Amino acid sequence: MSPLLPRLASLIAAEGPLPVSQFMAACLFDPKHGYYARGARLGADFTTAPEISQMFGELVGLWLAQSWLDLGAPDPFHLIELGPGRGLLMADAWRATASVAGFQAAARLWLVEASLPLRAQQQTRLGSVGALPGFLDRLEQAPIDAPTLLIANEFLDCLPIRQFVRTTDGWRERLVGLDAEGQLAFGLSATPLASDGPIPPPLRNAALGAVAEVRPAAEALMADLGQRLRHRPGHALLIDYGPAQSETGDTLQAIEGGRKVSPLASPGLADLTARVDFATLAAYGRREGLRVAGPSAQGQWLRALGIDVRAARLAASRPQQAGELQAALARLTEPAQMGDMFQVLCCSSPNAPFPAGF
Ligand code: SAH
Repeated sequence: MSPLLPRLASLIAAEGPLPVSQFMAACLFDPKHGYYARGARLGADFTTAPEISQMFGELVGLWLAQSWLDLGAPDPFHLIELGPGRGLLMADAWRATASVAGFQAAARLWLVEASLPLRAQQQTRLGSVGALPGFLDRLEQAPIDAPTLLIANEFLDCLPIRQFVRTTDGWRERLVGLDAEGQLAFGLSATPLASDGPIPPPLRNAALGAVAEVRPAAEALMADLGQRLRHRPGHALLIDYGPAQSETGDTLQAIEGGRKVSPLASPGLADLTARVDFATLAAYGRREGLRVAGPSAQGQWLRALGIDVRAARLAASRPQQAGELQAALARLTEPAQMGDMFQVLCCSSPNAPFPAGF
């Protein structure tokens, strides 16, 4: 059984129902029993793009190198990844930049990672390609004294969301409480929001019963990025699953052992994520004075960067893996697979050159 369950139940019994964001934060980041603190079973519970194929990280590496050259090859610069998982994305990207003279020597590599077991894996994997990362708990801790290139894949989807339900007298917050049997159950706040200010503007007129999701930590992240990228030039490349336009719907999803489970079923044992609202994310970026490129569908972005050529070249050098490479290419780019479900957004300094691939 989940060791977090009785603790959450007694917290709710003492203090009342929790906003979904607080529940999600406890499930993912409780220092002892949270999913990420326990070491996250990436690859077993879910498979991310860098886990599917090295091509993904290689193209991100070429994008980084191109962005660095376009910025005038600054030395030093801060190369930052948020939520590097097992370290595959940065390791593949790092390898791909080896032939770009000066890039690796100029890069100060920072990994923002909450999970200690994952930090250990990242250190080993990056060490094996000759990179020496520094580890940070939060983006604000990364120095701001040089240009920045930042990447994040499937990081935003783990940031806790609040959910609001449209009722006859306004928006009420969805809460996690206890039912008559003492089991975790969803409910609604006793009073509606005083104003619809927290609801994304395109969703304010949604039908009765509609669910709107809001991600305060994504807004805070964008404020940090704004400060950083207004101060020194740079780009932040954000890749995740979610629609290009704001949509209503309850998208909180729990995955345990590769299968979808109820988000309330096993707190701390399942990975909990929710779709990223890219329209709202882009709006936060613009409000910070950043230049926003995208969102572009992942498949389109990878194609614009030349993933087909990369796949053909790899297949020519490893004919026995040609079928596997073709399947990975399809999985990353086909609209029915990750190609349209994932979006790529780039937030840049106001005067930075336009980023590649958009
Ligand atoms: N980018 C990787 C892993 C995605 S899983 C990949 O594409 O394979 C999410 C990652 O973000 C994990 O490494 C998790 O520990 C980290 N993470 C999630 N929320 C975080 C937070 N608030 N602060 C720091 N790291 C976080």
